[in-house]
Amino acid sequence: MAKEKEECIFCKIARKEIPAEIVYESENFIAFPDVNPKTKGHTLIIPKKHYENLVEMPDILGNELIETIKKVAEIRFKQGADGFNIVVNTGEAAGQIVMHAHIHILPRKKKEKIQFPCDTENNV
Ligand code: AMP
Ligand code: ZN
Repeated sequence: MAKEKEECIFCKIARKEIPAEIVYESENFIAFPDVNPKTKGHTLIIPKKHYENLVEMPDILGNELIETIKKVAEIRFKQGADGFNIVVNTGEAAGQIVMHAHIHILPRKKKEKIQFPCDTENNV
C-alpha cells in the first residue's frame, strides 16, 4: 500500500482500523462524526478510497455522494436539525488539513449563529 494511504487518518477510519461511530455507510462512502464538532451532529462524509480532494474524486461517484449527503441530512433532521450547511475545504489555501477528500455536513438550528471563518486557523 502507498505510504500516503497507509498513514492517512481517514483511510484508517475507512479501513476500520481507527474506531469511529458510523453515521451512515454506502458502497463507496462512509459518514462519521467530526472529532471537533462545530455544530451539533457535525458529520464528515469521505470516499472509502483515497482521493486527495473532491476535484480528484471520479465524477461517477457524484450521484452516490449526493445520496449519502441526503441520507446523513435525513438522520440529522430526525435528530432535530432545522437545516444544514455543506462545506468542502479544498487545498491547503482553503483550509484543508486532512488530505483525503471529505465533505462537512453542519446541521443547523433556527436562530443559532455560527461563523464561517475563511482562514486556515479557524477553518470549519
Ligand atoms: P479540513 O481538512 O480542514 O476540512 O477538516 C478536517 C476535519 O477532520 C476537522 O474538522 C477535524 O476536526 C476532523 N478530524 C480530524 N481527525 C479526525 C478523526 N480521527 N475523526 C473525526 N474527525 C477528524
Ligand atoms: Zn486517505
